[in-house]
Amino acid sequence: MPDCEGCGACCAYSWEWPALLGPGDGAGIPAYFIEDGRMRCDGDRCSALAGTLGEAVHCRVYADRPLVCREFTAGSDDCRELRRLFGFDSG
Ligand code: SF4
Ligand code: SF4
Repeated sequence: MPDCEGCGACCAYSWEWPALLGPGDGAGIPAYFIEDGRMRCDGDRCSALAGTLGEAVHCRVYADRPLVCREFTAGSDDCRELRRLFGFDSG
């Protein structure tokens, strides 16, 4: 199983992700992390992601993170594809 705290690829691949899915999703996240119904990104990277990609990262809003973040599964095909894209998996 890949180590999310040494990765962060799924938090940094698209300025369109993660989007909030409706009322209540992301409740508790400070407004300055949110823009146009999604997490505000710096480039393709979610503004709530702290640390260095591929080394040590954490989510500043982990307890309140959006549903799509909760549902993104470490070790899934999408996870593996992103890790390969970022060069974190060789296979
Ligand atoms: S891409 Fe996979 S391993 Fe990396 S942070 Fe996301 S779920 Fe975790
Ligand atoms: S809210 Fe947290 S888990 Fe979701 S993309 Fe941003 S940093 Fe990653």
